[in-house]
Amino acid sequence: MKSCLIVDDSKVIRKVARHILETLQFTVDEATDGTEALEYCAAAAPDVILLDWNMPVMSGMDFLRAYRAAEKSNAKIIFCTTENGIGHIQAAISAGADEYVMKPFDRETLEAKLQIVGCM
Ligand SMILES: [Mg+2]
Repeated sequence: MKSCLIVDDSKVIRKVARHILETLQFTVDEATDGTEALEYCAAAAPDVILLDWNMPVMSGMDFLRAYRAAEKSNAKIIFCTTENGIGHIQAAISAGADEYVMKPFDRETLEAKLQIVGCM
């Protein structure tokens, strides 16, 4: 079974994403901001991280930069954003994101992104 860490400050988004991922046979854990996610990743190595952009305490971009600078940092990262500007997407990719998905996402979209990053 592949593992996914969902990082999002929205309880609703975490719940929806967890449901989709569990039906795709992933084991799922959740973090509510970048700091919590970094702590999680210091102790565990998820296969893929579903990462929100806007979060309190530590944003998705700040998490991404800190995560990619760490030693254990080879999870695939899918950025989830409501921002569809090309500048946002380029910034995310150059900071080390593998893919991005627009919110709100459905099962088909997320499944397609997981296939692109090689997690399915
Ligand atoms: Mg958010």
